[in-house]
Amino acid sequence: MSAREWLDKDFYAELGVSSGASADEIKKAYRKLARENHPDANPGNAQAEAKFKAVSEAYGVLSDPEKRKQYDEARKLFGAGSLGGQGGFGGFGGPGGFDIGDLFGGAQGGGSGGLGDLFGGLFGNRRPGATTTNRPRRGADVETEVRIDFAEAVRGATVPLRLSSPVSCPTCHGSGAKPGTRPRTCATCAGSGLVTRNQGAFAFSEPCPDCRGRGTLIDTPCPDCNGEGVSTRSRTLTVRIPAGVSDGQRIRLAGQGEPGRHGAAAGDLYVVVHVNPHRVFGRSGDDLTITVPVTFPELALGTTLTVPTLDGKVSLKVPAGTGSGRTFRVRGKGASKKDGSSGDLLVTLQVAVPSKLDGKAAEALADYAKATADHDPRRDLNEMLGR
Ligand SMILES: [Zn+2]
Ligand SMILES: [Zn+2]
Repeated sequence: MSAREWLDKDFYAELGVSSGASADEIKKAYRKLARENHPDANPGNAQAEAKFKAVSEAYGVLSDPEKRKQYDEARKLFGAGSLGGQGGFGGFGGPGGFDIGDLFGGAQGGGSGGLGDLFGGLFGNRRPGATTTNRPRRGADVETEVRIDFAEAVRGATVPLRLSSPVSCPTCHGSGAKPGTRPRTCATCAGSGLVTRNQGAFAFSEPCPDCRGRGTLIDTPCPDCNGEGVSTRSRTLTVRIPAGVSDGQRIRLAGQGEPGRHGAAAGDLYVVVHVNPHRVFGRSGDDLTITVPVTFPELALGTTLTVPTLDGKVSLKVPAGTGSGRTFRVRGKGASKKDGSSGDLLVTLQVAVPSKLDGKAAEALADYAKATADHDPRRDLNEMLGR
């Protein structure tokens, strides 16, 4: 991307955040937009694909603290979007003059050090004279999401993950020109990407208006990327989700992000795992939870219950006189832990009261009430209150 294009773009507006947005706000905004405009969700929708690329590009800069700092500084220096006009240059007169060419480096013989160096890595590698573009640059980290079932989260799972990311177009190798044709050197700026304008005593260089600072023009655009030089790559990864993962957890897969440039390491892939809730079981850390309905006689007289686990069932001995709401711990029937052991199954017993009793049951219950008339379950309560 050229200097001018880069400065003309408002990455903050692209993501719909303020320029003071936190890293978290930027990530949230990006994730939402990337999801909405993902090519998988919008097959054949060119507008969504363009937006997807645009937000990916914006996020690529704003998510990297170093790049974001450079972008902010450059915008402060030139004023957003004003590089081609007069407005941004008002402050640059004065003793010795000021040649914008110095800022961009390379094109006019300058190059290393200074602002040209500062911008070099951001503008991509289309500028032939720049000295900084061959530097190794670690690949960007990529974040994606995956949704798995409750049982998969407890036991661990291997899931295929389809990733789309903007890459250099394979058809034109990023040149933007149709294969067999080549971008031609811009005549206006002789390929430098800069034109010089005289104003009073000073000579100003600014990005060439004909080639938008690229230094080249494309007569026959590549049909696959419409001359952008960028396309969307899809790849499928097989990702092992460790047993015991919990909803919202972020898993790091080292080296599975964007490839690095010029021999540098690839970025990392972060997978945010969403876990579908289970209809019967709940999770509490490494423990699974279940609420089992019981009858009053079962609690009062004691019983042995058959309780479902995630992959079978267990017998649970309930002693006579067990209170409703009491929780029993069944060892080792929970989620797998990192150390290979397992959490527990927490079984909570809850009395199920019949909504309707037939005559015989109602009679028996009335007899029971009579037989236990001496027992007042609220006596302790009243004593504690002093009544
Ligand atoms: Zn192409
Ligand atoms: Zn030009």
